[in-house]
Amino acid sequence: MNGTAKGTWHAPGRVNLIGEHTDYNEGFVLPFALPQGITAEGERRDDGLLELHSGGQREVVELDGLAPGRVRGWAAYPAGVAGALAEAGYLVGGATLRFTSDLPTGAGLSSSAALECATALALTGLYGVKADRRELVKITQRAENAYAGVPSGILDQSASLLCERDHALLLDCRTGLSAQVPLDLGEHRVLVVDTGVRHSLDDGRYADRRAECEKAAGLLGVPALRDVEDLAASLSRLVDPVLRRRVQHVVTENHRVQATVGLLKAGAAPEVGAMLTASHLSLRDLYQVSWPQADVAVEAAVTGGARGGRMIGGGFGGSVIVLVHRDRIARVRQAVDEAYAARSWRPPSYLEAVASPGAARLS
Ligand code: ADP
Ligand code: MG
Repeated sequence: MNGTAKGTWHAPGRVNLIGEHTDYNEGFVLPFALPQGITAEGERRDDGLLELHSGGQREVVELDGLAPGRVRGWAAYPAGVAGALAEAGYLVGGATLRFTSDLPTGAGLSSSAALECATALALTGLYGVKADRRELVKITQRAENAYAGVPSGILDQSASLLCERDHALLLDCRTGLSAQVPLDLGEHRVLVVDTGVRHSLDDGRYADRRAECEKAAGLLGVPALRDVEDLAASLSRLVDPVLRRRVQHVVTENHRVQATVGLLKAGAAPEVGAMLTASHLSLRDLYQVSWPQADVAVEAAVTGGARGGRMIGGGFGGSVIVLVHRDRIARVRQAVDEAYAARSWRPPSYLEAVASPGAARLS
């Protein structure tokens, strides 16, 4: 075995610049990795147990007989990775894993994928198991879907495992193929506004959206909404106004991802702001997954001088991103703070999203 008795691995959270609710429709997304993430300090052990520590909590899981549904709560994510590795034929044994995080949880910055990806690198690293990153994307996604019970696409895990510094990742969620897109924002910055509202992806609303999209694709006779070519003709074939709205969002959002890549390649980063705002309005009015604090943050930020902004993540809580000239960050923050205060909402928290490297071994 070429493993290592102990080591430390880090997996980042992510911001998805654009392409929301397109991943499970086999479309396109454009995430980049954050400097913030989850670190796993790992040590091999030979008793077949997975001992997991995080934030003062300790969970012990037996690897033998690990199956979806056996482990609940936060430990389902790392245990799910061990289970999914075994299912895929990658034999890893017991370990003690100590997690530390500087990523807010449930903020739409993908702490769950960071937890899974840090675990995947730690377990494969400790046991000298060679699995390529694309394979690990599938394994960590399986952990989230089957073991944690969240029916998410490959966006978050791909971002954590495949992103590179100063680049966004253009990911085709149908093929899993990706391309690095240089993210040169010039004097502009991406500011994350954590609205403080917490979502739960397993509360059913996310699953509802997926089911609506599948139904619409079935009615339109296409494998996935990614394949809708003539939007107007497709909309006219759908009777249900709800399904029409969902389709319109997914199709136009895929176009916005491509347009954003075009703007970045043309050195027109500030114009990405308009794409972000268009995405937000579509998520608010057509896909209907935004929440009041996100709507107010986007509106106040734009009024305060930002180039644009949008909610990120599955919806109903989490964060907003805003594209803003660095000299206007303070003004935009003040505008958002004031808009929140006027509604007696708790002030949001902020972090600057700097495109950072993907998951890696630290020591
Ligand atoms: P997001 O991925 O946007 O942060 P999710 O709801 O997908 O939100 O995942 C959050 C869940 O991931 C938490 O409820 C917890 O179960 C798990 N999690 C994230 N970070 C940690 C951590 N540092 N320690 C333990 N569990 C964590
Ligand atoms: Mg998550």
